[in-house]
Amino acid sequence: MQQSHTPVITQLSQAVYDTFPTAQATDSWRHRTSLDRPHDLFFENYQPLSVLYPWLRQLASMFPDTTELSSIGTTYEGRDIPALRIGIPLPDDDPHKDDPRHTVVIVAGGHAREWISVSTAAFLLRSLLHNYDHKQKDTVYKLLTHYDFVFMPVLNPDGYEYTWTTDRLWRKNRQETALPFCREAYAGEHPLQAVEAQRLYDWAKNESSSRKFTAFIDLHSYSQEILYPYSYTCYRRPKNLEDLEELAVGLAKAFRTTNGHHYGVESACEGSMLNTATSTKDTGMVRTRIEESGGSALDFFYHDLQVKYAFQVKLRDTGSYGFLLPKENILPTGVETFSALLGLGKWLLGNRGIEGYANLSDDEIWGKEEVTINGFDVIQETNDDADEDEGGSWFRRKR
Ligand SMILES: [Zn+2]
Repeated sequence: MQQSHTPVITQLSQAVYDTFPTAQATDSWRHRTSLDRPHDLFFENYQPLSVLYPWLRQLASMFPDTTELSSIGTTYEGRDIPALRIGIPLPDDDPHKDDPRHTVVIVAGGHAREWISVSTAAFLLRSLLHNYDHKQKDTVYKLLTHYDFVFMPVLNPDGYEYTWTTDRLWRKNRQETALPFCREAYAGEHPLQAVEAQRLYDWAKNESSSRKFTAFIDLHSYSQEILYPYSYTCYRRPKNLEDLEELAVGLAKAFRTTNGHHYGVESACEGSMLNTATSTKDTGMVRTRIEESGGSALDFFYHDLQVKYAFQVKLRDTGSYGFLLPKENILPTGVETFSALLGLGKWLLGNRGIEGYANLSDDEIWGKEEVTINGFDVIQETNDDADEDEGGSWFRRKR
C-alpha cells in the first residue's frame, strides 16, 4: 500500500536539535543531591542513559524498603536493561505475606526514537515513589500495598543511546543481523528478532511463576491512543473485550480531563494509523500507518501470560512534532499519564480487580472467546496450542 504523508516539520534539523537538553540543564541536574521537589529539573529535558541510569540507582537507594533495581539482562551491545520494582511489602505477620505479588508491568523505550515514552515511565515511577500529589497519597499507598509495579523505562538502551549520539530518528535496536528466533506465537510481521525483546519475554516467563501479572502497559509515541489486543490481527476478538474497552475509555478520560488532550481508543490491530490529508489531488483523508505495529509484546502479555489488562499507550502528540516532541511536553505528558495510571489503579482496587475476581472461575472472568471472520479463511483452530506451532497461524495473514 502506498503511503502518503504531509510533512509537518519544515525545519527538521532545528526540531531535532530542540529535543536535546541544554548542556547547562543536564549539568545542573548532575549536581543536585536530592529529589525532594516534585517537578525537579530531571523532567525539564529528555535524559540520556548517562543521566537516567544513575538517577534510577539514586532513587532505589533513597527508597530501599519499597524498591528493587535490577537488570533483566543485557542488550546486544552489552548494556543492562534496568527494571525498577516498586511495592510496599506486607508485614511479616500477614498471612498473605508469601502469596505471589500481583504485579503491573510498565515498559517504555522499546522504540528508540520515542523519547517521550522513556521520560514518561521515569515520571510515573518517580511519582509513585514521591506521592507527588498529596491528594492522591492514599490511593498510591493502597495501590503499592496491593500491587508491585515493575518499570522498565528503557527497554532498548542500545537504540536509545544511538538516537542521542548518531541518529535521532533511529527506531530499532542495534543488532546487525536478525537472530533466527521464531518462537513468537503470533506469526506476525515482526517475529521476535531483537535480543532485548527476548530478554523481556524470558524475564516475564520466569517471573510469572512467582508473580501474578495483572496489567501490562507498553508506552510508545506518537498519536495519543490507547490500544488493546490483539495487535497481530483484527480478526480475533480478545476474550474480555468489554473490560478492555471500558478500561481503555476510562484511561482516555483520565488523560483528557487532566490536560484536555484527547486520546483515542481502539484495537492495536487498527492503531498506529493517523488520518492524514492526502498529498495528491484526492480529497478527503487517508489512514496512514505511522509506525509498524510493534504490538507483539502486547499480544504476548495478553495471550501467553494471560494478563487481563494489557495496553499499548501512544503518547503525545498527534503528529505536529511526532517523535521530535519538544521537551516542554515532558512534564504535562507525565502528569496526564500518571493520572491514567491512578485510574488503572482504582479500577484494579475496585471490583474489577483482584478482589472482584476472587470467586469467579476462569470462564466467568474471561467469557467465551469469539472468533470473527470477515472475508478471511480460517485455518483449523483446535486449541490454543495451535498458535505455538511456528508453521501454522490461526488465520492467513492479512496482506
Ligand atoms: Zn513505538
